[in-house]
Amino acid sequence: SESNVPLAGQIAWNADGLVPAVVQDAVSKEVLMLAYMNEESLRLSLESGQTWFWSRSRNELWNKGATSGHTQQIVSLHYDCDGDTLLVKVRQNGPACHTGAYSCFYREGSVSGDALSSQVGDPQQAQPEDRFSPLSRLEATIAQRDAERPEGAYTTYLFEKGVEKIVKKIGEESAEVIIAAMKRDTVELRCESADLIFHLMVLLREQGIPFDDVLQELEFRHRKPVKKD
Ligand code: AMP
Ligand code: ZN
Ligand code: ZN
Ligand code: ZN
Repeated sequence: SESNVPLAGQIAWNADGLVPAVVQDAVSKEVLMLAYMNEESLRLSLESGQTWFWSRSRNELWNKGATSGHTQQIVSLHYDCDGDTLLVKVRQNGPACHTGAYSCFYREGSVSGDALSSQVGDPQQAQPEDRFSPLSRLEATIAQRDAERPEGAYTTYLFEKGVEKIVKKIGEESAEVIIAAMKRDTVELRCESADLIFHLMVLLREQGIPFDDVLQELEFRHRKPVKKD
């Protein structure tokens, strides 16, 4: 039957008229949660720009964040090759999980070493660790701190103080980088560089800019040389 909900015709709804929706943080790219949509919740999501689901336990339409305030602003909505799964990229306000965790996937199952070494595991995992992985982990930790705001954490303090405090720190850390470099103090320069990168990544999170966008910019310049100033 014809539906007046855009996309509804592309979706392979299951027997219950539902489709699973993977929700991803559009900034950090972390997977946040999985929930189900029916046609009505898809319509409400597209119309409001916020996520609406069908709660299978409560048997009702559910506007994520309606009671907790932890809403999700939709950045983009994708469906997979065979239309049986949605991917919703969002700007997450606060924790996505009702436990207060940034992501619902905070628990980790153990995979035996044998399973990993016998090609059963993720092929990505089998490769040597990317040397930039500390940056990826830092980005994920910053996103988590932003969502959970744990008491006493320095990153919480920065987010609570807001953009003015963060840019002030970037100014200070930049000056410290300059001082260390002029002294040719490599130990100090190493520390101050780490400080600067950390605060820059906090600023990117505060501004809602995915680190991937910065990496893309660098990639773009590599392909198309830019004029030096
Ligand atoms: P909220 O939509 O955040 O206002 O939360 C309302 C209720 O929805 C909670 O009490 C939970 O029962 C449920 N809920 C919220 N977030 C999740 C989630 N990520 N996964 C499953 N259930 C959730
Ligand atoms: Zn599929
Ligand atoms: Zn959860
Ligand atoms: Zn410093």
